[in-house]
Amino acid sequence: MRRILLSQLLVEDWASPRDRVIALVECRAVAIDRGGARSKRPSIPDPSPFAGEPAMKPQSRAPRPLRAIAAPRGLTPAPRQVQSLRPVQSGEAYRIASPPVRGLVTHELAQALETVFARFASERGFTSGKPIEIHLSRGFKPGAEGHDEGRAADIVAVGEQGLQQWKEAWEQAIAASEKSTDSQRRTEAVAEEKKRNLGYGLYKALQDLGGWRVNSGGWSMYRGVMQLFGPWTDTEGPWRRMQIEHPSQYQRQRLTDQQWVLRSHQDHIHVAK
Ligand SMILES: [Zn+2]
Repeated sequence: MRRILLSQLLVEDWASPRDRVIALVECRAVAIDRGGARSKRPSIPDPSPFAGEPAMKPQSRAPRPLRAIAAPRGLTPAPRQVQSLRPVQSGEAYRIASPPVRGLVTHELAQALETVFARFASERGFTSGKPIEIHLSRGFKPGAEGHDEGRAADIVAVGEQGLQQWKEAWEQAIAASEKSTDSQRRTEAVAEEKKRNLGYGLYKALQDLGGWRVNSGGWSMYRGVMQLFGPWTDTEGPWRRMQIEHPSQYQRQRLTDQQWVLRSHQDHIHVAK
C-alpha cells in the first residue's frame, strides 16, 4: 500500500480585499511507503538552472509555487496562518501612517520592528506630541519573495519623505562633502548628514538591532545573507557589494543575484525575521 499525504494551508490575501483571493499553498507532499520510509515526491522539477554544477544545486527542494484560486462560495476562511499575523503598531514617539493591512506580519517581526522604531524615534528627539511617521508598503503577501509567510516587511517612507528621496539627499551631501579639500570638513559634513538623514538613521537602527532572517537553504536570491536590504546595503552592509576579480560561474551568478537585490531595494527597506 502506498499513501500520499498532502499538507495544505489556506491563507487569505489581505492586501487586496476586493479580490478576495484565497491562495492555496501546497506546503509539501510526502510519500509514505509501506515500510514507513519517507521519500520526497520525485515529480518536483529541480529549480536550479545550474543543475550540472554541484556547488550550485539547492540544498533542499523549494515548496511548489503558490497557486491562487477563487474562494469557494460560502467558505469562511479562518486560516491559522493569517490569525497569527498582526499589523505593526504605532508607538509613543512614532506613528505607522500606512494602512494596517500593509504592515501585517508575524508577531515576532512586528515586535522587533516596534522595538527599533521606538528606540530610533526617541533617540531622534520625537515625542508623543510630535511623533515621527513611518510608512510600510508591504507585509504579508502570497507569492511575493520573502513575504509569503508574513515574515518580511517593506518600509517605504520615514519622516517627511520616502527612502528614495532620503538616499538622493544622502548622495548629494556626500558628493558636496567630497568637493572640500579640508579632510576635517569632509568628515564633519558626513557626520552632519548621518545625523540629519532619517532614512539612513532608520536603516542603521535596523542594522544595529540585527538578528534578521537568513535563509540557509534553497536556491534563492536571498540565501545565506541577512535579510536587511535597502538603499545603503551596498556600502553599509550587512551584504556589502561584492568585488571579485576573476569570478567563477557560481560567483558570477551570485554577483548577478546581489546586483538584483541591491537594485530592487533603492526605494524601500526590506527586513525579515
Ligand atoms: Zn520586501
